[in-house]
Amino acid sequence: MSRVGPLRRLSDFGRALAASRTGLAQADRLGAAALWHLQEQRLEKLVHHALRHSPAYRDLYRGVDLDRLSLGALPPVTKPQLMARFDDWVTDRRLKATDLERHLESLSQDELYLGRYRVMATSGSTGRRGVFVYDRADWRRNLANFARLNERYVGVHPRLRPRLRVAAVGATSPVHISVRTGLSAAVGINRVLRLDARRPVGELAAALQAFQPDFLVGYPSVVALLAHEQQAGTLRLCPSQIATVAEGRTPEMTDAIRSAWRVEPFEWYGITEGGVLAGDCQHHQGLHLFEDLFIVEYVDGDGRPVPDGEVGHKLLLTNLFNWTQPLIRYELSDMVALDSRPCACGRTTRLSQPSKDGATTSCCSPDRPAPRSRSIPWSCAVRSPPCPWSVSTRSSSRRRAFACFSSWRTRRPSRKRSERFDPALSPRWPTSGRPRRGFSSKSSTGWSVSKATAPSSS
Ligand SMILES: [Zn+2]
Repeated sequence: MSRVGPLRRLSDFGRALAASRTGLAQADRLGAAALWHLQEQRLEKLVHHALRHSPAYRDLYRGVDLDRLSLGALPPVTKPQLMARFDDWVTDRRLKATDLERHLESLSQDELYLGRYRVMATSGSTGRRGVFVYDRADWRRNLANFARLNERYVGVHPRLRPRLRVAAVGATSPVHISVRTGLSAAVGINRVLRLDARRPVGELAAALQAFQPDFLVGYPSVVALLAHEQQAGTLRLCPSQIATVAEGRTPEMTDAIRSAWRVEPFEWYGITEGGVLAGDCQHHQGLHLFEDLFIVEYVDGDGRPVPDGEVGHKLLLTNLFNWTQPLIRYELSDMVALDSRPCACGRTTRLSQPSKDGATTSCCSPDRPAPRSRSIPWSCAVRSPPCPWSVSTRSSSRRRAFACFSSWRTRRPSRKRSERFDPALSPRWPTSGRPRRGFSSKSSTGWSVSKATAPSSS
C-alpha cells in the first residue's frame, strides 16, 4: 500500500482537467454516427485487451465470432458471475480478490495497491459485494469525466481566489468511489467539508451552518431534510449550486430544495463500476449519458432492447475506459427510460429519465438500495457569480448566514439556470460542416482527439 504524493496527485488532476476540456467536451457533441464509430473503436480495443489478458473473458467468448465484432453477439455478464472468477477477470495476474479485500479493510485515505491501483467496493447489501480496481490511467479518465460534469454541466470550476466552499453530505469511507474521487481531486484549491449523511440532521445543519457552502452535494433525502430546516428558519445557507446523488429524487424533494434555496438542483447518476454515468445539464431535461466512455443498453427481462421512452428491466453497461477490470455488457438492475430527443443544450448524447417514485430509480433499484457511494465533488469552484452573501469574507459565518437568510426573501427571482450558464463554456457545434474527428489511444489520459477518421455525424 502506498500513498499518492502531492505532485503525482496534482499531475493526474491537471492531465484529467486538460482532457476534460478537450476530448471529452468535444465528444459530448459528436453526432450519432461519429459517436457510434468512436464507441466501436474503443469497444474493439477493449475486447481484444480482455481476450489477451483476462482468462475469464477468453472462456466467455469462446465460440463467438470476434472477427466481425458485434456488441449484441457478446454474452452479458453479471456481478456474481464475474466476482466468482475475480482473479481471472482482472487483466493483471497480481490482483487477487483475497488480497484486495484485505487492502480495502486497511484503507484510510487515497492509498494505492501495488503503487498503481485504486480499489473500491460496492455496498453488497443485497448479495456479494463487488470489488472494482482502476489503474492510474483508468482513474485519470474517471477524473476527467468528473471534471467534465462539474465544469461543463454544472458550471463549477477550479478556482484559487476566492476559494470556494464545497460541502458533500454522503459517504465518508474511501472504499466508496465518490469519496476516492473527491480525495484524489483534492489538490488544495478549494475548501471541502465532507459530512457523514448518517449523522443526525441537527448535527449536519450545525456543521453546514458554520461552513456556509457555496456548492452543496448530497443524498436527496438528506438535502431535502436540510431544506426543511432552512424553511423552518433553523438553518441559514445560501448555496449557489446544489447537486444530488446516490438516491432517486422525488418531485417533493425537488420542490423542497427549490423552495428553500431558489436553486434548481442538478442530479448525478454514479456507479462504482464506472464513476459518473450520467448527469443533467442546465436545462434539466434528463440525465445526459456519457456515451463516449460507456455503452449503455436498456433491455427487457428477456434481454431484448427496449424502445425509447419505455422503462427497461435492466441495463447492460460497457465501461470503455477501465482496462484493468473489463466490464462488457455488465448487468445492472437499474430501471430507467431512455430519451433520444435532442436536449436544448445542443448536446447529442441520449438522455436517461429515471423514475421519480424513488423505488425504481436509476440509483435505488431493488438490487441497488441507496448504496450511498456516488459522486461527491472534487475541490471545485462555481464559475457563475456566486451568491454575494455566501462568498467567503472576513465576516463571521453567523453574519453571512443572517444576511443570506434575510436577503433571499426580497431579492429578485433568480435567473433561469439556462441564463446563468455561460454558453462560452460549451459552444455548440455547427449543424453542418461538423469537424470529422476520432480518437487515438495515446495521450495524457490514454485518449485524445486525433486526425480522425470518424464518419460525418448525422
Ligand atoms: Zn442538455
